[in-house]
Amino acid sequence: MSARHYPAQVDVVIVGSGPTGSAYARILSERAPGATIAMFEVGPTVSEPPGAHVKNIADPAARARAQVASEGPGERGEKVANPGAAKAGVRGARPGTFLLEDGYAFDGEDGMPVAAMSSNVGGMASHWTGACPRPNDSERTDFVDDLDELLDEGDRLLGVTRDAFDSAPFGAIVRERLAAAVDAGRVDATKVQRMPLAVHRRDDGRLVWSGSDVVLGDATRENPCFSLFDESLVMRVIVEDGRAAGVVVRDLRSGEEHRVAARFVVVAADALRTPQLLWASGVRPAALGRYLNDQAQVVFASRLRDMPPLAEDAPTTGLAEYSGVSWVPFTDDMPFHGQIMQLDASPIALAEDDPVVPGSIVGLGLFCAKDLRPDDRVVFDDDHVDGYGMPAPRIHYRLTAHDHEVVERARREIVRLAEAIGDPVGDRPFTLPLGSSLHYQGSTRMGVADDGTSVCDLDSEVWGVSGLFVAGNGVIPTATACNPTVTSVALAVRGARAIAASLA
Ligand SMILES: Cc1cc2nc3c(=O)[nH]c(=O)nc-3n(C[C@H](O)[C@H](O)[C@H](O)COP(=O)(O)OP(=O)(O)OC[C@H]3O[C@@H](n4cnc5c(N)ncnc54)[C@H](O)[C@@H]3O)c2cc1C
Repeated sequence: MSARHYPAQVDVVIVGSGPTGSAYARILSERAPGATIAMFEVGPTVSEPPGAHVKNIADPAARARAQVASEGPGERGEKVANPGAAKAGVRGARPGTFLLEDGYAFDGEDGMPVAAMSSNVGGMASHWTGACPRPNDSERTDFVDDLDELLDEGDRLLGVTRDAFDSAPFGAIVRERLAAAVDAGRVDATKVQRMPLAVHRRDDGRLVWSGSDVVLGDATRENPCFSLFDESLVMRVIVEDGRAAGVVVRDLRSGEEHRVAARFVVVAADALRTPQLLWASGVRPAALGRYLNDQAQVVFASRLRDMPPLAEDAPTTGLAEYSGVSWVPFTDDMPFHGQIMQLDASPIALAEDDPVVPGSIVGLGLFCAKDLRPDDRVVFDDDHVDGYGMPAPRIHYRLTAHDHEVVERARREIVRLAEAIGDPVGDRPFTLPLGSSLHYQGSTRMGVADDGTSVCDLDSEVWGVSGLFVAGNGVIPTATACNPTVTSVALAVRGARAIAASLA
């Protein structure tokens, strides 16, 4: 699938090989089989098949090499496997990701100190947790009237399941206790439930985590008209007469620059680098980079109380096998998204003095929806460049008084939930540094009209530049608290269908 001879011309160029770029490749392969597609990815291939999740790499040393290779062009920064254990204010990146070198906070602002990216074939989805909850209430992009059908497609492309941890001996107990504390007055969709996860169990019992390889699928891998070029930096989208006409791409192995003509260009380069590439291309609508929002995150831990002894045949292949991943959905009344899971998969440190039943300490995380403000933004200028020589992202970001109130509510609520399921570990929850959620939204947001508050239309086509599409969490126009990838993949499906229809 990897190729080195850049074509002079294709039907569709896709920039970025994360799950949203891959969704375009997959839908186009299914719906427009004769269309030529070139996908350019600045990072290297780190897993097999290309885009696979690094957790599926059995050898720990090989997995660590894949993570380091994903960590971008600059100095390798401090790594924290458990950012919950990091004291507030410590900047550390999760394995497989890298942070902005500077420009992440300005005087008098909160900034986003741990805003992170990944550069590898598969993007962040080679490193993610795979939680794929659906948005509820004000999280939903309701002006997209086929949203539910698109989310079904998102589940299909990401390989989402709900039963991977059904044999976990403590899962039902955790959910029962959470439900008793939370469910009163909720409709079925917002009651406590198993977290939909992009993971499946093989016949031999091993878990396989979905990465972009699953999104691409055989339909893309076997499409003779599809090519993936890794270590290829797209520097500029060429716009001629108000239409996308191709890209300028640098082969990072040779340093050579190429011009690739295209009828359609899809920029799926994450919520910081999609606006970067548009800005570098002179495409600068008023809303570009604005309405940036991250989900402030509060974490805590609880030791499950009164646990039954484990059965003889209880799973032994890892802590995550004991209580699975549970979901407390967001509602407008309770504007947090709750993810409750084993500590080996959760960003908080295990208690050191833990003589307890394996798997009986669970981590709780609440993600908060942000007040949307145009002044929260990523900007670019000609004076600062990043490690690739592109205009460096610089972030202006503030929590409002309402945001602070929501975080305080989340801190109280997480203590209540921890007490409902067991005995809290530690005396108070952590509020993680801003940017920890890894869910940055809004920077290329979708809208119903070209009124200066959005960058693209309902098909993700950039206002005023026909043939130029944007993809990723930046397209989501609402302040979600839930993990956003299945939503951004769903929105990408709609854009890909629009391109396929034009190519037919
Ligand atoms: C540890 C971790 C846990 C996470 N857990 C979850 C979770 O449970 N649920 C969830 O929904 N989300 C989770 N996320 C976030 C999730 O991975 C992202 O939402 C998702 O990967 C975004 O997909 P994307 O295609 O928009 O962008 P990305 O996956 O970020 O891919 C963008 C790609 O574009 C490439 N690129 C950028 N600029 C250029 C350029 N100029 N030229 C060529 N290529 C370029 C990048 O190198 C990158 O590979 C997690 C992330 C991490 C790191």
